[in-house]
Amino acid sequence: MAEYPARSSAPRSSDSRGSRGDSRGDSRGPNKRRFQVRKKVCRFCVDKTPFIDYKDMKTLRFFITERGKILPRRISGNCARHQREVTVSVQRCRNIALLPFSGEK
Ligand SMILES: [Zn+2]
Repeated sequence: MAEYPARSSAPRSSDSRGSRGDSRGDSRGPNKRRFQVRKKVCRFCVDKTPFIDYKDMKTLRFFITERGKILPRRISGNCARHQREVTVSVQRCRNIALLPFSGEK
């Protein structure tokens, strides 16, 4: 008769590994872009904001990084017209010391 070795410390051989290890051909797919394309709409166009208030730093805060830099348009999603207004507004807002020129930290 077959004799079992030790009955305790027998490791379950490679069982928990099988479901994960299959190689998915991730980045080799036909679609190049990794990020899902989400249509960004300029929020000022959506809100139908007539102009951007440079004193409204709560709004302008969205368009600067935490280091105080203005977000580029492809990140903020603004249209060209409003991005220009945001830029001017942020600069004015800095000028009256509502926003920092550079990061606080
Ligand atoms: Zn716009």
